[in-house]
Amino acid sequence: MRITHWIGGKAWTGIAQRTGDVYDPATGQVGGQVDFASASDVDEAVTAAREAFSRWRNASLAQRANVMFSFRELLNARKSDLAEIITAEHGKVLSDAAGEIQRALEAVEFACGIPQLLKGGFSENASTKVDVYSIQQPLGVVGVISPFNFPAMVPLWFVPNAIACGNTVVLKPSEKDPSAANFLAELFAEAGLPDGVFNVVHGDKEAVDRILEHPEVKAVSFVGSTPIARYVYETGTRNGKRVQALGGAKNHMVVLPDADLDLAADAAVSAGFGSAGERCMAISVVVAVDPVGDELVGKISERIAELHVGDGRRPGCEMGPLVTGAHRDRVRSYLDAGRSAGAKLVVDGRGHSIDGDDAGFWLGPTLFDHVDVDMSIYTDEIFGPVLSVVRVPSYDAAVDVVNANPYGNGTAIFTNDGGAARRYQNEIEVGMVGVNVAIPVPVSYYSFGGWKDSLFGDSHAYGPHGVHFFTRAKVVTSRWLDPSHGGVNLGFPQNS
Ligand code: NAD
Repeated sequence: MRITHWIGGKAWTGIAQRTGDVYDPATGQVGGQVDFASASDVDEAVTAAREAFSRWRNASLAQRANVMFSFRELLNARKSDLAEIITAEHGKVLSDAAGEIQRALEAVEFACGIPQLLKGGFSENASTKVDVYSIQQPLGVVGVISPFNFPAMVPLWFVPNAIACGNTVVLKPSEKDPSAANFLAELFAEAGLPDGVFNVVHGDKEAVDRILEHPEVKAVSFVGSTPIARYVYETGTRNGKRVQALGGAKNHMVVLPDADLDLAADAAVSAGFGSAGERCMAISVVVAVDPVGDELVGKISERIAELHVGDGRRPGCEMGPLVTGAHRDRVRSYLDAGRSAGAKLVVDGRGHSIDGDDAGFWLGPTLFDHVDVDMSIYTDEIFGPVLSVVRVPSYDAAVDVVNANPYGNGTAIFTNDGGAARRYQNEIEVGMVGVNVAIPVPVSYYSFGGWKDSLFGDSHAYGPHGVHFFTRAKVVTSRWLDPSHGGVNLGFPQNS
């Protein structure tokens, strides 16, 4: 199957100079070939978006909202088709793909309220018979560059707000699971979005670099690993663009001695191994405050033994394969690295039974105990089903571990002590905090973003920050002719 770009409201008909294989991770087979855009292919998409912008920026708020409502209905009606596409290219189990789409729907629903969201301020008689008001205007063509791990949700963190604010979009999804983006493009067209408002170019660094350099691209929203996020932020801003670049993560779950350890173990396993650990909000480190370590590790191990790992399309499977063979090999290499560094390999995922094709990109859930903060299994974002337990003597030591980590995406504290939870939310240098909630992804009417190396730029994704990011403010000071205000005055304008 050929997977190609979507430009100007239709599938691209050109011939790509380069293509890439797209795998079904549960079988290891190549399921499609995706075209890689050259710089001039990106230019074609930007031109289509630029032309569409001249009309779309003046589409009424009612029309923009209507498109979003229609898109929301279509996405909801077709969500099981989209879930199958996601599972076939990403590998996550179908119920998890459905969960991703549900969160995406919520982001679309937020954008349906765009008439309310774009209301400006108005001050009558700011000065005598002078009115002042603010308006939010779109930026123009915006680029969205997304990672493999949420092929529908992450694009929809940005695209609905960008479009509803009156911008036009060029999306460059991950080349590992590109089909979901095309599905979304078709649904937008069916929802009545004019041609050229939403475009998709597939590919790799070459396409990304052109988006970052193109003078007509006014802003870039990026989600991916930290080194690329930093590169995108630095390159995009150097080229005069507004950039928000969300990076990688190492999310800690602190378990205090008074916590309900069954609840904490359930949460650690769910958040550590859901989507095979390939979530930017996955828990990858459990910080066990003395004396809970032994009991907690025991409870986590028991639960891991019960996990049903296999092809996400098979009934009952809870955890699928990793996205590619290369990524699986990289994640697997940490098992030996952790052991030789001195950590205790409590559960070795290589021994887990698999309900799927032998050629799939499998690695079962893995648990390390007695992990030190200088080991590579701790310092690196592994992005797979490998959970580390770091033992600390006190609450303060737990906070020190989390705050010393360069990432600051998400964190959670498990406790029944409200005072400790409140202190944690105040002291912790992380953008999203859960109290007895392991994956605290904000609802769509807040905004999503980490701190430190997990976010470059000052705008978080979606919600109010999204509307702010995709608009620029204009303030109008207006006076209608009034004979009482005649006369020359060279002084600096003052209010009277
Ligand atoms: P990635 O950084 O490899 O790729 C992200 C995007 O950048 C893709 O579209 C890819 O084609 C492009 N890209 C890759 N290499 C590039 C290069 N050298 N130059 C320019 N562009 C390049 O990330 P991934 O493996 O697709 O996704 C996993 C990463 O994303 C993890 O680090 C995860 O934590 C992170 N992530 C973060 C969030 C968040 O909200 N902070 C959300 C989801 C995923």
